[in-house]
Amino acid sequence: MLTIGSHLSSSKGFYHMGKEAVSIGANTFQFFTRNPRGSKAKAIDGDDVRRYLSFAEENGISVILAHAPYTLNACSKDPHVREFALMTMADDLKRMEYIPGNMYNFHPGSHVGQGADEGIRQIAELLNEILKPDQSTTVLLETMAGKGTEVGRSFEELRAILDLVELDSHMGVCLDTCHVYDAGYDIVNDLDGVLNEFDRVIGLERLKAIHINDSKNPFESHKDRHEKIGKGSLGLDAFVRIINHPKLAGLPFYLETPNELSGYGEEIALLRSCYTQEGKEAN
Ligand code: FE
Ligand code: FE
Ligand code: ZN
Repeated sequence: MLTIGSHLSSSKGFYHMGKEAVSIGANTFQFFTRNPRGSKAKAIDGDDVRRYLSFAEENGISVILAHAPYTLNACSKDPHVREFALMTMADDLKRMEYIPGNMYNFHPGSHVGQGADEGIRQIAELLNEILKPDQSTTVLLETMAGKGTEVGRSFEELRAILDLVELDSHMGVCLDTCHVYDAGYDIVNDLDGVLNEFDRVIGLERLKAIHINDSKNPFESHKDRHEKIGKGSLGLDAFVRIINHPKLAGLPFYLETPNELSGYGEEIALLRSCYTQEGKEAN
């Protein structure tokens, strides 16, 4: 069974997200840990978490993906901005332990002229402060489009961060299809080549989740503007190949396309109808 869901609003809690996910045919979902602008998080509601966990179990929702506020910058030139990212992410990871065994994705950051090497060093430094040996959450670096001074524009930059992280067994990578295409990895015409490159540089065992988005912009544009599935420069056929690729079998796929809930439901139904790997999963 294809594991697929969409980004959902977390404002009404986990149980509500679980019900919304099931209502659109999803068996996973992504959510922001707090307002994307990075404000204070709501207190964890134990009742909500308990109701969610039993609902998830009954409805076959396995792993879910939390997303850090995208305004955090772990490699800002300003130490206060870095400290804010550290405090926020450390708090998020503490809260994630209420829903153990899930994943937490973040944008590595923008080095704002300090250079990619310094950015990479600062990102790893932050991770080395917040990762704990006994945590159950896997932290994911997201592949970025390379807008401005974004770090994570290439597989090599992500590899360089991982190489500096001590507790790297808690680390993985989330591949965003819009971002990698915008960054210059041709997953439309050479998906095999890109996955081989990912394997060579990072290792496919690090790949834990896929953000499945079409792009409003052409190949290598370094722009990062998501489009509905099949309506952008990647096109539906590319996504059919992606969800059915044997090297991506079993990974969770998350839509972050410009949609309301019903639009996500339609994209999930469309992609499920294009999924042909059903019988091959036992191998
Ligand atoms: Fe993201
Ligand atoms: Fe993404
Ligand atoms: Zn994006």
